[in-house]
Amino acid sequence: MGFKIIYCIRCKNEISIPEFGTSEKEEILNHVRENLPLYAIQFVKIKKHLDLSSSKAFVQHLNAKKGICHRCNKEISLEENVVCSRCKSFNLNW
Ligand SMILES: [Zn+2]
Ligand SMILES: [Zn+2]
Repeated sequence: MGFKIIYCIRCKNEISIPEFGTSEKEEILNHVRENLPLYAIQFVKIKKHLDLSSSKAFVQHLNAKKGICHRCNKEISLEENVVCSRCKSFNLNW
């Protein structure tokens, strides 16, 4: 079971990043965009068997808008894994 762990220097958390299929990513992103992060957290928790705090940390680092830092709204690169140059937060772009 592939999943990565990335350390976020901003919040000093280790973020577990499970592998997702395209439709799973869409569903999670929809919850985030609709401002229903709890749905996204539940999804990750149940489908990927992360504990609650890992699921929360994961969803927190997901960008609702690709290329816009989830924390400070700075424009960042469009690569999948990006550290924001302004706030140093880890960003996950899907
Ligand atoms: Zn962080
Ligand atoms: Zn930022």
